[in-house]
Amino acid sequence: MLVDHQRGAPLAGSVTETLEELATIGQSPRGGTTRVAWSNELFRAYDWIGERMRELGLDVEVDPAGNLVGRWNVGTGKAIGTGSHLDTVPSGGRLDGAFGVVGALHAIALLHAEGFTPSRPLWVIAFMDEEGTRFNTALFGSQAFTGGPLADFADRADAEGTTLRSAMAGVGRDVERAGDAQSTDQLAAFLEMHIEQGPLLESEGLDIGVVTSIVGLRGYRVHLYGQANHAGTTPTRLRRDALAGAARVVLELREFARSRPDVTANVGKIAVEPGGANVIPGVADFTIDVRAATPDAVEELDRVVESTVARIAHDEQLDYGLERTFSLDPLELDATMVDTVERAAVAEGARWRRMPSGAGHDAMLVGRHVPTGMIFVPSRGGISHSPEEYTSPDQLELGTRVLAAALRDLLRTGG
Ligand SMILES: [Zn+2]
Repeated sequence: MLVDHQRGAPLAGSVTETLEELATIGQSPRGGTTRVAWSNELFRAYDWIGERMRELGLDVEVDPAGNLVGRWNVGTGKAIGTGSHLDTVPSGGRLDGAFGVVGALHAIALLHAEGFTPSRPLWVIAFMDEEGTRFNTALFGSQAFTGGPLADFADRADAEGTTLRSAMAGVGRDVERAGDAQSTDQLAAFLEMHIEQGPLLESEGLDIGVVTSIVGLRGYRVHLYGQANHAGTTPTRLRRDALAGAARVVLELREFARSRPDVTANVGKIAVEPGGANVIPGVADFTIDVRAATPDAVEELDRVVESTVARIAHDEQLDYGLERTFSLDPLELDATMVDTVERAAVAEGARWRRMPSGAGHDAMLVGRHVPTGMIFVPSRGGISHSPEEYTSPDQLELGTRVLAAALRDLLRTGG
């Protein structure tokens, strides 16, 4: 396709201005932006971004898994992919995911402006439901795109009882056909730009993170069963207090994580039954989220979680159930892609460092099939999943120029 460079100046404003305009789609009265998976707000964002894509000369499609894909169909051979996601957590910020998509469009505008013609196609992808907050189906779009299993997801329901299947049917999509989105065999490489969502770059006064790996995650649901009883008459030594056992698990996992440089542990959700001020908790039901950077460390975490729960349950005379609900292995990013990003950061005069990603991203699935890299920009105060998310306009522009430089490198040769 020929792009008419004289046609005017799509995306004439700054990256920050485009992000601010996008953030008005799904703006919450309580602050922040809410565009959960398969919502009207998300599809309005698709329409708006799709229009910007067309202005840049891209062919636009929403694929069977609800991924928005804009294709610059030039050159020969497999495409280079870039992008991130446009869905948000409830009352989210304007940068998480959105920056990777908006930055990609501005990077294309930079390539247009210098008259660069790629030797191979370029795809900009906004993956459906990276966040997973609505249906507990995180990374749905990239899972479909990479040919991963989807059967588990179809009948998961949101807080209103709507299943993913029916939400998709409501916008003319068939969950059984989502696997048709599989496209990794058409990509030569993938590059995702994202905010860091942590404090490292800011604290070291750096502009760019050259991401080398993405952490592995394990999620668990634990039930501890003791004996609900009278809080006044039951002697302390005879109690089987499920919450006391849970508290020990929380603290021991925290101690373990503190003893290791690249390990985190979190208990973020807990409920006790029967839940009375004067009743000893008979049941504690809680989640565990543990993360580590290497496969060995993740396997060790598995063993530590299991042995810690079993030992404390035994000590406290509790019965227990332990179920693994989520599992993603860590991913070492492609060495050539890491070098490409590093060269781009150097070429643009950025202050940069190599670093692992402590958050999960679509790149962690795509990267199991296609050589993949990631570019981070700083997050002020390390804050994300909040309206307080902020990266300075200069750093957003610099990140976009680094992305453009890396894409120029990757698009130079066809094949
Ligand atoms: Zn994200």
